[in-house]
Amino acid sequence: MSTVTKEQIVRWLESTAAVLEANKGYLTDLDSAIGDADHGTNMDRGFKKVMEKLPTVADKDIGNILKTVGMTLISSVGGASGPLYGTFYMRGGMAADAKEELEADDLVNVLQGAVDGIIQRGRAQPGDKTMVDALLPALAALKAAVADSQDVRAGMAAAVAAAEQGMKDTIPLQARKGRASYLGERSIGHQDPGATSSHLILNALLEVL
Ligand code: ADP
Ligand code: MG
Repeated sequence: MSTVTKEQIVRWLESTAAVLEANKGYLTDLDSAIGDADHGTNMDRGFKKVMEKLPTVADKDIGNILKTVGMTLISSVGGASGPLYGTFYMRGGMAADAKEELEADDLVNVLQGAVDGIIQRGRAQPGDKTMVDALLPALAALKAAVADSQDVRAGMAAAVAAAEQGMKDTIPLQARKGRASYLGERSIGHQDPGATSSHLILNALLEVL
């Protein structure tokens, strides 16, 4: 499998909505330890809105679909994660402009644009205990695997494994961005909710390939 089709992108978004609904309680529990206990409900609300919008753009190109997801998240999710994930899909969509399917290199460009967007918007560095700590290792692993095989499934499998490790590696970190940073050293010992949702989102893509 060396491309991602538009139909797979649509199924990825549907499956993301289902996974976020199923993990709503888990993500909110993680956020209750170091934040304000709303990450699960934020993500679930946002992707329910995405599901309402999806039928109106499902026949458009991948860039258009992803940009619509981004705008929907920005307008429907409060909190830090709405604008950040909104930027992720908007910038990913800009990198997929007019495309009906993604070759392996296109997929790298989409994830690169998406992750660059989050970093430019949120200014988090690696090690700040945020979603960036799952996403940057995932991007690096995707690039390396694609350079090796040009295979999108192998690339995403490597990306998801790296995201999972990055997510777990947030546990001993002290938060330096977002609400969790207000806790100072008390944020140590807890897994970051946003890194966890990032892992779930990438894993949902792997599962439709
Ligand atoms: P809020 O913190 O506003 O309640 P959420 O609970 O939905 O929003 O999201 C919290 C997550 O957002 C954190 O776990 C972290 O991963 C992520 N986050 C917060 N600030 C930033 C930032 N500046 N850059 C990247 N990610 C961030
Ligand atoms: Mg929160």
